[in-house]
Amino acid sequence: MKPSARIANSRPLATTAMHGRVESMRAEGQAVIDFSIAISHFPAPRPVLDAVAAAVERERTMPYTSVVGALDVRTRLAAKLRKENGIEAAPSEIIVTNGAKQALYEALYAVTDPGDSVLVFKPHWPAYVATSQLLGLRPILVDLPDEITPQFLNSLETPKVLIINNPHNPTGKVYTRVELEHIRAWVEGNGARVIVDESYEHLIFEGGHTSLAALCDWRKIGVVTIFSASQSYAMMGWRVGFALAPAELVNAMQTLQGPITAAAPHLSQVAADVAFATGAPHEMMAEYRQRRDLAVKLFAEVPWIVMHAPASGPYLWGDVRSLYAAGEVMDTVGFAERLIEEKKVAIMPGDALGVPGFIRIGYISDDVATLRDGIRRIIEFGDAYKAV
Ligand code: PMP
Repeated sequence: MKPSARIANSRPLATTAMHGRVESMRAEGQAVIDFSIAISHFPAPRPVLDAVAAAVERERTMPYTSVVGALDVRTRLAAKLRKENGIEAAPSEIIVTNGAKQALYEALYAVTDPGDSVLVFKPHWPAYVATSQLLGLRPILVDLPDEITPQFLNSLETPKVLIINNPHNPTGKVYTRVELEHIRAWVEGNGARVIVDESYEHLIFEGGHTSLAALCDWRKIGVVTIFSASQSYAMMGWRVGFALAPAELVNAMQTLQGPITAAAPHLSQVAADVAFATGAPHEMMAEYRQRRDLAVKLFAEVPWIVMHAPASGPYLWGDVRSLYAAGEVMDTVGFAERLIEEKKVAIMPGDALGVPGFIRIGYISDDVATLRDGIRRIIEFGDAYKAV
């Protein structure tokens, strides 16, 4: 049956589509190495697993909680915001969601009307653009500069909403306090609302994390800050995160969430409650750092790729523009297609993140031997690659 016109022009997220493809190839018996998204080989933190096991034992059947999440969970999330992010917030300004994706959809829904513009820096997480398109919004895509300056910001069209991803997927950029001050001044001056996705707040190797909301009157400006347990606590499949927003927006987001999923699953709320109280995942980050350094070293002598060590995050963002002659279309989609077909390695082409000529490699899944093997295959493939 033909789907509605409303959905007909939208496509599944490129990232989840590639991951889905890997799963079907594996189901057919093919051994595929999956660098397409970042799925940690770490389990959820031990205290999380213990708390969930205890909750199952104690409660047997789990209740519905209020749509915004259980009050005691939101009270402790407010304490996390105070302690780690320097933000004073009330539980009524927090909504627990099924991951950052749901928070993003609801936040955009709550602050925009169809046709409104959304400013996104590229390269970008595909969900920002896909969600904007689902909601009939107009994405404005602008190259993310190395440094955000007032001059840069003043050259931009004023959007209804600015989306910031700090730390940034896929480049690993960690916004400095000074850059965030410039952004604060800019939005205070032009009235743009802001959504800040801080899902990678604990995956920082170099620099420190600053929340925009800690630097401004976020209630007055209309700043929504999104957190997720997926990356910071290796809890991708638990599907849980939360948003901090002015109470009126939390109410609007709740109105949307109620009929769709109601509350996040109670067990995932128990998990999030404990996870966000455990602070920075030091052991996991020490291991990620070793992998990051190893991967960067393995690519260091390869002439066709420029690979910097990211300051944060689970991705490498490789510049492969030298594979293409001047004026030639940088078909990194074709590169990724042939890589998975010929070498059984899945990566994300930069095109899916708005910037052809780059490839994104998630380096935190499986074991180190698999990481080495996958990189060896990518290098072998690139050495022989000729764009067609
Ligand atoms: N934000 C960004 C920028 C991401 O890359 C990811 C993980 N892919 C997330 C959020 C996590 O999303 P979720 O909480 O829905 O798993």
